[in-house]
Amino acid sequence: MAAPLPVARDTADPSFADLLAARPALSLHAHDGLLLEEVPLARIAREVGTPTWVYSAGTLRRRYRALRAALDGAGLEATIHYAAKANDSQAVLRVLRAEGAGADVVSGGELRATMAAGIPAAATVFSGVGKAPEEIRLALAEGIFQLNAESVEEVAMISAIAAGMGVRAPVALRVNPDVDAGTHAKITTGKAENKFGIAYEDAHALYAHMAALPGIRPIGIATHIGSQITAGMAAYHAAYARLAEMVRGLRAAGLPVERVDCGGGLGIPYRDEVAPAPEALAGTIKATLGGLGLPVMLEPGRWIAGPAGVLLASIVLQKQGRGRRFLVADAAMNDLLRPSLYEAWHGILPLSPARHAAPLAPADIVGPVCESGDTFARDRAMPDLPPGEFIAFLDAGAYGAVMSSTYNARPLAAEVMVDGTRFAVVRPRQTHQDLLAQQRLPEWLAP
Ligand SMILES: *Cc1c(COP(=O)(O)O)cnc(C)c1O
Repeated sequence: MAAPLPVARDTADPSFADLLAARPALSLHAHDGLLLEEVPLARIAREVGTPTWVYSAGTLRRRYRALRAALDGAGLEATIHYAAKANDSQAVLRVLRAEGAGADVVSGGELRATMAAGIPAAATVFSGVGKAPEEIRLALAEGIFQLNAESVEEVAMISAIAAGMGVRAPVALRVNPDVDAGTHAKITTGKAENKFGIAYEDAHALYAHMAALPGIRPIGIATHIGSQITAGMAAYHAAYARLAEMVRGLRAAGLPVERVDCGGGLGIPYRDEVAPAPEALAGTIKATLGGLGLPVMLEPGRWIAGPAGVLLASIVLQKQGRGRRFLVADAAMNDLLRPSLYEAWHGILPLSPARHAAPLAPADIVGPVCESGDTFARDRAMPDLPPGEFIAFLDAGAYGAVMSSTYNARPLAAEVMVDGTRFAVVRPRQTHQDLLAQQRLPEWLAP
């Protein structure tokens, strides 16, 4: 094998041992290799095949409870509305429902999914920049807890639909506070140039206008400033302080405000980021909005589901190029899109215990899809991994399976849930027949 190329980086990647130490649900067993909770991941890879998503029920519960405890500890009256778009698996939603979670949805499809998992519409927020009339109708017919409206045009549409149904829609106004959350450009949402929310300067007038419409019951204000926020509390603090100021102004004008929706966005450490603890977020909410005496809402997605999932894959080929080693996995960008979409870094661990002790050399870890963007990692220190070896992509529980496609006619991967010593397939692998079954030929092409 050619001599490994030196890798220039500001900081070294975390070692396999560092990655394990920071992830309590994962451990390395001397004989069984990498375990998620008490289940050897190699057993799932052998029995279910690869690529396969695996979710830890225990991690979902532990993280939900940690967030709950942080909010309670700060003395906040708060409800948690899990953002279903991070992971809308029925099994994941059921585990969180059993913990008491409500939902945040961004489509009629997600509303149907969360209701199917037992989360009532009365505990659900409907966000999103382009709700279709039939989605608004569905939400109102089901008794949605809150619709987050984002524009004067949308408010008019909601009012007309609700009035036609003889109801008043509970609407919160999503305000764009014009703060920079310091995240990747594709997941920042709270700056003036982003498509989300109504400009801070226009919000008061629109809220007053809502109160005069026949089909609207204005219930509060909402914001969501971005995702994977790890740069501390400054952006949250600035945004929530502006919301508090706005609530005071609305009240002074005699307008009713029942609650404040603080959105989601709390980040997690994928590599070596120092992500804020939920206690810091709870403290920031308390410091900025606590004096209003209103209940608050949180819409976390990634923070709960991200660390609860891994994506298992097999090595198909270990290919030596000129001065570069490529590990070609059977998972690809159609499965886990985050690295090619956001240049995201995911920890990657071998499942076999022997490979954790073997010498390391840089490798590019890629998928088999015909795109250069189908690259999971470059210059990653990895052991020799011959074909058939299993690997796990860490922190793949949020914005993983939900972003999958069938590009390159690749069936959707299987999904599995682990709970203690048990595991079960919660979505079987799609088959090639499934892919073809949805297609129709025009009669002039029929054989
Ligand atoms: C995506 C989204 C969330 C969840 O974001 P996370 O970064 O996963 O916490 C919450 N609220 C709204 C409106 C969203 O669009």
